[in-house]
Amino acid sequence: MPQELLLQVSPEIAANELLLKDYIGKQIKVSPKEIQHVSILKRSIDARQKTIKINLKVSVYSNNEPFQETKFQLPEYKNVATAQEVIVVGAGPAGLFAALQLIELGLKPVLIERGKDVRGRRRDLKAINVDHVVNEDSNYCFGEGGAGTYSDGKLYTRSKKRGDVTRILELFVAYGATPDILVDAHPHIGTNKLPQIIQDIREKIIECGGQVLFETRVTDILVKNNEVQGVVTQKGESILANKMILATGHSARDIFELLDRKKIFIEAKSFALGVRAEHPQSLIDSIQYSCDYRGELLPPAPYSIVKQVGGRGMYSFCMCPGGVIAPCATSPGEVVTNGWSPSKRDQATANSGIVIELKLEDFKPYAKFGALAGMEFQKSIEQKAWHLAGETQKVPAQRMLDFTKNKVSATIPKTSYVPGTTSVEMGQVFPGFLTQILREGFSEFGKSMKGYLTNEAILHAPESRTSSPVRIPRDPFTYEHLQIKGLYPCGEGAGYAGGIISAAIDGEKCALMIGESLNKKTSNTK
Ligand SMILES: Cc1cc2nc3c(=O)[nH]c(=O)nc-3n(C[C@H](O)[C@H](O)[C@H](O)COP(=O)(O)OP(=O)(O)OC[C@H]3O[C@@H](n4cnc5c(N)ncnc54)[C@H](O)[C@@H]3O)c2cc1C
Repeated sequence: MPQELLLQVSPEIAANELLLKDYIGKQIKVSPKEIQHVSILKRSIDARQKTIKINLKVSVYSNNEPFQETKFQLPEYKNVATAQEVIVVGAGPAGLFAALQLIELGLKPVLIERGKDVRGRRRDLKAINVDHVVNEDSNYCFGEGGAGTYSDGKLYTRSKKRGDVTRILELFVAYGATPDILVDAHPHIGTNKLPQIIQDIREKIIECGGQVLFETRVTDILVKNNEVQGVVTQKGESILANKMILATGHSARDIFELLDRKKIFIEAKSFALGVRAEHPQSLIDSIQYSCDYRGELLPPAPYSIVKQVGGRGMYSFCMCPGGVIAPCATSPGEVVTNGWSPSKRDQATANSGIVIELKLEDFKPYAKFGALAGMEFQKSIEQKAWHLAGETQKVPAQRMLDFTKNKVSATIPKTSYVPGTTSVEMGQVFPGFLTQILREGFSEFGKSMKGYLTNEAILHAPESRTSSPVRIPRDPFTYEHLQIKGLYPCGEGAGYAGGIISAAIDGEKCALMIGESLNKKTSNTK
């Protein structure tokens, strides 16, 4: 049996195999030459003290312990070309992983996606960044891979209760992600690597007999006697099936409106709202690592911060070290921010959403919209930002310290947000109570993280698509919609996920529930 050890070592030792073998040899009193291989099982950085340490969990193979590299195999997929069809609307992480799971179950996914394939999306992202033109079907949120494609690809979820995180990580590795994601405490893939992984997943779906339809927007859901019959697309085509996974994400406002119009039960859901803050990465490194220069051995530092301000949680969200702020609007006439980073996280800036939890009562001014009140509130903020910044994809911006002092910034330096910035008093974007909490909150953050509250940091507004403003309620045991038989609300848009991993897990679970209702089983059936 290989020997498992928990170690705390310097970054130099952690990064160098020979030094690590030497160190382990001393610990277990064997010659480093006798150590054939060291497998890293878990890796995290402990930056709480001035001297930074790397925590490692390792498996040590000595001469008489043969080491064999684990190859992550794809599951056994069936050929489903002629099998029963299940409609999956939305090719984000939830829809893609649902489709793969359906194939394992011997069911044929018909995956319907309003946007373009992952390569085709690029042109439309350029149009937003350069020409300020938002394509309502192809943007940072819509298209193959969904909102996850041009994301940071952070693969950790706060909720371990949701399901088998390791299975999803291993599937990502089997589809080409670096095995490091199985080891790191805070794994991430990076925007540059995600497109190929997503394309490989799609090719597998097609190879197994599944169907993938791009540039096909669902405009109606066919229902008879409270049972799903199929969907209608913008081309006027009907696609029929009596099982359907609805995984359209948190930005599919037309789907929420459709459900509301058809009196299919949905409810308002709270979400979080705020700004995206950008600091020089070197500044965050110096705060987090207590050093002037991070060096080559440590990754760009992340941060995570949460405070109670004015009776509400204010916290960092989707922090991207070495990353870029992206224009994530899904319709013309609105401005939305989010962040991504490449696998190396080698950009000069660090950005993070800094958001405040909303309450359902905050949506009262929009009560006439019923279940869509939160969505209308969200839309109004995004539209206000668009007007304030000059009715392009430029974003309202203000220096952080200036914001806390209610002072319009005289200048805004170039930030990573490519369409550009307009200097405004940020308070104009938000209702007064939110501005007040943000102001106080940044002052509190500055006390906990010395150097964080600075005019070197630029705020961009709004960060508004933190999660879905609507829930599509489903039975907690069967995952079927409470009212419509055969409809399986899924992923972030339905209110059951909050990131790539949890959306993928939810996609698999919805597929498994359909399998169960049809008496289909796989090795993954719990
Ligand atoms: C820039 C950015 C960075 C992010 N970074 C991270 C990160 O690092 N880590 C993380 O965990 N999460 C991140 N997220 C969030 C993450 O991407 C989402 O939580 C996740 O993608 C949700 O998955 P989903 O499948 O439920 O929905 P989505 O990914 O939103 O997918 C929904 C899909 O449905 C399609 N669709 C919508 N309406 C229709 C229709 N009418 N007909 C047909 N198709 C339709 C859309 O085009 C889309 O492709 C980021 C998001 C963004 C925008």
